[in-house]
Amino acid sequence: IRSSVPAVVGARLTVPLVTGELVPYANLDHAASAPCLEQVRDAVDELLPWYASVHRGAGFASQVCTRIYEQARHAVRRFVGARQTDAVVFTRNTTDSLNLLARSLPKGTSVFVFDTDHHAALLPWRGPRVNRLQTPATPAEAVRVLDEALKAAPVGPRLVVITGASNVTGEVWPVNDLVRCAHSHGARTVLDAAQLAPHRPVDASTAEVDYVVLSGHKLYAPFGAGALVGRSDWLQQAEPYLIGGGATRNVVDWGDHLGVSWSKVPERHEAGSPNVVGVHALAVACGVLARQRWEDVKAHEEKLFAQLKDGLATVPGFRELTLFGEEAPDRVGVVSFTVDGHDAGLLAAILSAEYGIGVRDGAFCAHIATKRLLSTSGAEGGRALRISLGLGNNAEHVSRVVGALRRIVADGPKWEYELVDGRWTP
Ligand code: PMP
Repeated sequence: IRSSVPAVVGARLTVPLVTGELVPYANLDHAASAPCLEQVRDAVDELLPWYASVHRGAGFASQVCTRIYEQARHAVRRFVGARQTDAVVFTRNTTDSLNLLARSLPKGTSVFVFDTDHHAALLPWRGPRVNRLQTPATPAEAVRVLDEALKAAPVGPRLVVITGASNVTGEVWPVNDLVRCAHSHGARTVLDAAQLAPHRPVDASTAEVDYVVLSGHKLYAPFGAGALVGRSDWLQQAEPYLIGGGATRNVVDWGDHLGVSWSKVPERHEAGSPNVVGVHALAVACGVLARQRWEDVKAHEEKLFAQLKDGLATVPGFRELTLFGEEAPDRVGVVSFTVDGHDAGLLAAILSAEYGIGVRDGAFCAHIATKRLLSTSGAEGGRALRISLGLGNNAEHVSRVVGALRRIVADGPKWEYELVDGRWTP
């Protein structure tokens, strides 16, 4: 029987428990990095004998790689539903993409960003015209807060940063309403699709978005490649963000200085030898997901998420962190929570050492969001535990984590743990 969702590698991975026993690994940390699709692995495998420097060689392998690299732009453009005229710049990841955009803004651009966003979306913007918007309690309030801020903003270029889905709570933001509001005030928008793209069709929510950023390693491709897709004019007038070969069209020696003319977008912002293997992997993942029935992905994840939520509700002392609660327009399979009387870091360590389960603990590179949600949920301490689901999960993973948490709360850990360099170790 064929599964209705694409298969990922590592489904049969086993990991050692503290006892030395090997058990199947339950990777419940898809929001950090998702496992590679089998089809992506095969595509990378096929490319490896061929890889060569892109745009720089006359040899056959260089020509093949240059073609693969340039075709990848089309796959990514189609995947996010971008305009034909949009630039597709390959970067290392979402963080790199947002930093590139931040360095490419016209002088005097007012930037609007919610203070609960991931650090990659919150922090790259500089200057006096950065407007931090207070955490809204409802999607409607998010739109109202943005509307008021835009009304009060000085004349000039504007950019609104919008998170697709929160990496802390999995809640989907009211993307279309925020985009409409931004555009009604003449502002451009950038969608941080790092967490949305692996779970929902980005093109449906981004028809009007001006820029989209995403990371391959969250999208079932290995590390090292991401993209910034969007309007080319700002990127075209900006000095290159990285300087070196590929970004330069011509360099001449004027004696006292070097005269440099920069390449056009996208090469302008892709200095250095490009990551053709990573970009190909990202493009193949985009292609596989674009051909996939998203209802099947959604159904697979929602079934597991419902099982997870029902199970967690039976763990004594469970407190969930949510931003919008029932009012969230949609939610992907991510839940952050605390368990009363239990340190989140210690719980994560026990789950790994005694049950072969990988989860994340901490503040998830979104310190403002996590701390605020911890305090509103009445939790102790500054850390939470996060379980995040995706195509690599099944019902056994979910029942194992729920059973493990119930057992830890009832009986405590089976081993003793001590803090070594800030991590609990058996
Ligand atoms: N935005 C969101 C919502 C994220 O979840 C992440 C990764 N946790 C990022 C941005 C940054 O992605 P990357 O680490 O791949 O640059």
